[in-house]
Formats: sequence, structure tokens, C-alpha cells
Amino acid sequence: MRVERLMERWDVLIAGAGPAGSATAIHLARGGVRVLLADRARFPRDKPCGGGVTGRALRQAPCELTPVVERVVDTFELRLGYKRSFRRTSREPLILMTQRRRLDAYLAEQAARAGATFRDGVRVADVEVGPDEVTATVDGEPVAAAVLVGADGANGVVAKAAGLDAGIVRGVALEGNVAWELLDRERYARTAVVELGSPRGGYGWLFPKGDHANLGVGGWSSEGPNLRDHLAVLAHAHGVAPAALTDLRGHRLPMRRIGAATPAAGNVLLVGDAAGLVDPLSGDGIYEAFTSARLAAEAILAGDLGRYQDALAGALDGHASASWTAKSALDRHPHICFWAARSPGVFGVVSGLLRGDVRHPNEARGLARPPLRLVARVARRRS
Ligand SMILES: Cc1cc2nc3c(=O)[nH]c(=O)nc-3n(C[C@H](O)[C@H](O)[C@H](O)COP(=O)(O)OP(=O)(O)OC[C@H]3O[C@@H](n4cnc5c(N)ncnc54)[C@H](O)[C@@H]3O)c2cc1C
Repeated sequence: MRVERLMERWDVLIAGAGPAGSATAIHLARGGVRVLLADRARFPRDKPCGGGVTGRALRQAPCELTPVVERVVDTFELRLGYKRSFRRTSREPLILMTQRRRLDAYLAEQAARAGATFRDGVRVADVEVGPDEVTATVDGEPVAAAVLVGADGANGVVAKAAGLDAGIVRGVALEGNVAWELLDRERYARTAVVELGSPRGGYGWLFPKGDHANLGVGGWSSEGPNLRDHLAVLAHAHGVAPAALTDLRGHRLPMRRIGAATPAAGNVLLVGDAAGLVDPLSGDGIYEAFTSARLAAEAILAGDLGRYQDALAGALDGHASASWTAKSALDRHPHICFWAARSPGVFGVVSGLLRGDVRHPNEARGLARPPLRLVARVARRRS
């Protein structure tokens, strides 16, 4: 006798338990929705990431993050071509430093606490989008849900299955860790170092963590074959032998072209990297992951999925378009951008953007206005 297996049914299936997926699950579970949060990796798992949570991201976080914060950054050191540099310190914290292994496990745990069912080590596959429900397999078992949230990151399957993978360009980044003992602790403990000038379409960074620092380089995907060399140069510049770097790993940075990418269709919503929400200038995506998670959950809870796309555009497009402008200027005129960044008043705007007090560089007043306008002008220039 053939025994038919019963298909599990959920209100919402969330594919992927990074910050976007777990934050969506937390909001939905708090709203009384039956949620299955499924991730193919076994947790705790790492994710290539600088682990910098800006003040702006913190404001969108679905819960308190203090238990996984390892360092607080209030100082920026910006250098061009490993030559000229300057430092600026803010009176308030700018970035909280965590490790993704810890942050993501913690968020998934908070989702489970809020009432979501979290399963790790299970792959979501065979996605089929129907008019009334979505079916998929989770670890090979069939599952149906009224709504599917694609939170499966840069290499996910949901965007493709739902025909939502157009309009996204990809950068690439490579990073590694170095033991704290090998560094000048005074210089780095509260400082995010940003190295401008290479790779093309990006920058290098050094971020402090509890017992180590994270060094990385990222840029246009054409820089992929050169990233190891760029990382070695960055390491040397900070007195670290490249061989001392551990946990080397690379990952893609999906960035949507504004107006060209669609984050929702029917009963499928994309959040975070799956929707191509990485900031084109900074390469950050945790703020966008948390913001899209909140807006997707609000649309689902309101029973109005159609409002998600506009809500997302309203929340993120202004900032993203300013970032595309600045990236274009930085690519072609790094010296002008560096000069602008160190001009009087500009750090106030940059730190306001990082903290979330300033929404767009156009809000700059006084001395900061002329250099920022010049950056916008050279970005539009054709040469
Ligand atoms: C090198 C590097 C440095 C970065 N540094 C920063 C930084 O300092 N600050 C910052 O804000 N942003 C940073 N970012 C960007 C940030 O890491 C991402 O934007 C962020 O991880 C997006 O979160 P997410 O939840 O959308 O996707 P992810 O964190 O990628 O999570 C996706 C999850 O989906 C799971 N998954 C994939 N496919 C399936 C499947 N078929 N079934 C089930 N599960 C699946 C994966 O296992 C993963 O856990 C960095 C990115 C890179 C590459």
C-alpha cells in the first residue's frame, strides 16, 4: 500500500536565516503568524562579512543586539592610495562590531523565542509559485505556504524561481582575520580604517573585533582575480604578513540598479541580499536587510503584499541613489572624493548618515555643502 506523506502547511516560509530572514521571522512571529524559518547551513555558521552594524542599522534591528557586540567604533581613519590619511572621531558611536557567526545565531534564536519554527541544515529547493500558495521542498520534504520570503542571500534560489533576478549587478569581496596581538591595539581598538583608491569600484577595510581584526577588500566583480593581491597589499600596509591572515573567504555583493530590480511578485517577497539591497558605496547590507525585513513583515501582517515594493523604494531608494552617485565619482575621481571627505563639515554628514540622523547627503548644510555638490557634479561628468 502506498502511503501519501502529508504536506506541511505554513502561513509563511522564509528561505534563509541571515539577518534579513531572521528579522522577518521575528516580526512575523510576534504578530502571531505561523512561520517556518529554514537555512541550509548548520548554525552557528559564518558569513563573509565585516560584521559592522552601523547606528542606522541598529535602529532597524528587530531586537537588542548588545549581547553580540564585541567593539564600538567612534573613529574613522580614511587613507588614499596608502599615502595621505586623516582621522575623525565622533562624540557618539558610529558602528558596532560583531561577528556574523554570533549575530546570525543570536537572531535565529530570537526568532525561535518569538515563536517561529527554525530549522537549520535544511535546503529550500524546488520552489513553485502558484496563484494561491507556494510549494517547495525543505530538506527534500514538500512544504506549502501562503507566502514565501526569499532571504537566501546573494546566491539564493528564490529570486530565480520567482523570475525576480533581473536588474542586479554584483561586486565581490575577500576578507580574512588577524590576531589582535599582531596589531597596534591603540590605533585600531575603536577605529574603522577605510583604504580608498583600490580595488576598482570599492575599498579596503580593517575592522576591530574582540580578539582579532577583520581585513577585507571589495570592488567590481572584474576585480575578482586580483583580490588576493589587493588583500596582501592591505595586510602589508598594516604591518601584517599576508600569511598571518586566517579564515580567508570571498562572497558576492548584490547591488540593484534603482528602478530595474523588482523585489516582489504575487506571493513571493525578497528581502536583504536576495533583493540586491547591498549599498553600492559602502558594501553594507545589514541596514537594508533589517529594513526590508520590517517592511516585508508589515506588508504580510497587513495582508497587503502589493505595498511592499513601494514601501521598500520609499525607504531605500534615496540613500541608494546617493551611494551610486558617490561610487561613480569615487571610481573616476578618487582624489576629489578624498579631498571632499576631509573638508570641514563633511565628517558631520558622513557620521550622521552612519548613525541614521541624516537620510541623504542633500540635507548637508553650511561648509559641507560645496564639497558634496562637487562630488555629485563630477559623478555626472562623462569623462
Ligand atoms: C566581505 C563582505 C563584507 C561585508 N561587510 C559588511 C559590514 O561590515 N556591514 C554590513 O552591514 N554589511 C556588510 N556586508 C554585506 C552583508 O554581509 C550582507 O548584506 C548581509 O549578509 C545580507 O543579509 P541576508 O540575510 O540578506 O543574507 P545572508 O546573510 O547571505 O543570509 C542568507 C542565508 O540564506 C541561506 N541560504 C542560501 N540558499 C539557501 C537555500 N536554498 N535554502 C535555505 N537557506 C539558504 C544561507 O545559508 C544564509 O544563511 C558585507 C559583505 C561581504 C561579502
